[in-house]
Amino acid sequence: MREAGRIVARVHAELAQAIRPGVTTAELDALAESVIRKHGAIPSFKGYHGFPASICASINEELVHGIPSPERVLKEGDIISIDVGVIYKGYQGDSAWTYPVGEITPKARRLLDVTREALFVGIQQVRAGNRLVAYSRAVQQYVESRGFYVVRMYTGHGIGREMHEPPEVLNYVNPAHPDSRRRFLVGMTVALEPMVQVGTWDTETLSDGWTVVSKDGSLSAHFEHTVAVTPDGPQILTVDED
Ligand code: MG
Ligand code: MG
Repeated sequence: MREAGRIVARVHAELAQAIRPGVTTAELDALAESVIRKHGAIPSFKGYHGFPASICASINEELVHGIPSPERVLKEGDIISIDVGVIYKGYQGDSAWTYPVGEITPKARRLLDVTREALFVGIQQVRAGNRLVAYSRAVQQYVESRGFYVVRMYTGHGIGREMHEPPEVLNYVNPAHPDSRRRFLVGMTVALEPMVQVGTWDTETLSDGWTVVSKDGSLSAHFEHTVAVTPDGPQILTVDED
């Protein structure tokens, strides 16, 4: 999983270099797939429940699951969330990042900063013995105290040989959820992925059956890392370092 995570991080590093006004999301998808395959890995999203591409590319009010297209051209001031998943030697890595396209508004900058920071604040709770809800509470409090909204409909997840494994790791506190009282244990690997919106926590899915947008059309952001619970605390796997 460490190797799979490293490949995911390298894909993101290449995408970060390529994102600029005038680039299409289909071009970013082709770049990502070439980097994934160059490393001997497989894009886990391609064909997953019929998804047609190697990355999800979601622009502005689009939150997740945007389908790359030659018709979607990035422009100055956009934000774009890119989710990357790979399988390497049978193991999965999964990481998402929201990128600015050129100069973005202060509000958009703030959304990106708060969502990324919420992920890292949450990861600090990923310690053996802590309940999953400790992560959920940390993320929700961080985001809501800064005036943004945590999406309810989608959650983080266990990850290993499959992309989505139990438990579900919520980004908000829901005591009724059966996984909330579960504890992080040494050896667990989880994909943690706060999704944050400017104007509402609610979402809807477009008629393409994939693209999820904020219900009110406000900006959406998504940051995700795959993390292992170790005796020494959380270890982020989707980074390109030792
Ligand atoms: Mg993902
Ligand atoms: Mg995920």
